[in-house]
Amino acid sequence: MSKRSIRGRCFCGNIRFEVVGPEKFACFCYCESCQRAAGAPLVAWATYVRDTFVVTEGEFHWHHSSPGVKRGLCRNCGSSITYENDKRPGEIDIAVNCLDDPGAPIPRAHIWTEDKQPWLQIGDDLPVYEKNIG
Ligand SMILES: [Zn+2]
Ligand SMILES: [Zn+2]
Repeated sequence: MSKRSIRGRCFCGNIRFEVVGPEKFACFCYCESCQRAAGAPLVAWATYVRDTFVVTEGEFHWHHSSPGVKRGLCRNCGSSITYENDKRPGEIDIAVNCLDDPGAPIPRAHIWTEDKQPWLQIGDDLPVYEKNIG
């Protein structure tokens, strides 16, 4: 796959960003932190090279949701846009649904399903991990 610039934004558009794709990985995360941060039963994340990520408009509000973890939010609309973990320096996760084309990175796994709400059924054949991968 050839490298290309991918754009995205928060709900209100105050924050706009670019990153170079294709993504290194993409998955559905059901961890409790993502559920709370998004107010949703899961978040689809795509992982990119941190150095290629540029905020072109606006400024993040940082939420330190766990030790070594920061989530980039829009102060105005509350969109939960990015996730960075000190254990994975050089990488940034971007909420797939904040991309201009949310259909582009296709999730390849389900992670942290130990936190998944029982009323949500996984209906595909992707690999399932109770915790993180590896
Ligand atoms: Zn916003
Ligand atoms: Zn999560």
